[in-house]
Amino acid sequence: MLLKRLEAYGFKSFADKLEVEFDEGITAIVGPNGSGKSNITDAIRWVLGEQNVRNLRGNKAEDIIFTGSSTRRPLGAAEVSVTFDNSDGKLPIDFQEVMITRRIFRSGESEFLINKTKCRLKDIYNLFADTGLGKNSISVISQNKVDEVLNTKPEERRYFFEECAGITKYRERKREAVRKLDNTQANVVRLNDIVSEIE
Ligand code: ATP
Repeated sequence: MLLKRLEAYGFKSFADKLEVEFDEGITAIVGPNGSGKSNITDAIRWVLGEQNVRNLRGNKAEDIIFTGSSTRRPLGAAEVSVTFDNSDGKLPIDFQEVMITRRIFRSGESEFLINKTKCRLKDIYNLFADTGLGKNSISVISQNKVDEVLNTKPEERRYFFEECAGITKYRERKREAVRKLDNTQANVVRLNDIVSEIE
């Protein structure tokens, strides 16, 4: 599964629309300090559903929207899209190309889209679960991440192996099923109470 394209507008330092095409093989992005190289990996992580803004080197959600400069006014929203070549069918969706988009507005409102159709964050997580790009994966390794991975507790490190082994999605599904069972159990108890009151 090849990451073909990244488009970003209003995300961090990208006040103008940024478009990066990725070819097969290795792509190196070079530039002076502070020119926005890491902002590119932040954008990829964000569009794939990163919810913790600290992992994107910010403090609050709106820190990822362009804050303005001496010559540019701040922007009201940020948008990032990534396009994957899905001709190998690694993503469980019936499209040869899959574009994921995430938008956030200063009001706090945000949205996700798969191939321009609105979806839930959960749909993005499900789509990428066990592909190596899912939540908690280490496909994007930022500065200090190597140390962080080596210093994590064994239980936390296990998540990386689980993601690679492809069992994360079953863990998620089990969690969801257990939650539904608990809710149903609570409903049965309530129902029994009502029945015994009526009797
Ligand atoms: P280095 O080589 O030092 O690691 P880098 O090329 O990876 O640098 P980044 O860390 O990606 O650079 O970019 C940092 C720049 O992004 C800083 O100049 C910072 O002011 C700018 N920046 C971050 N968030 C925003 C924002 N919300 N609005 C405007 N600029 C931002």
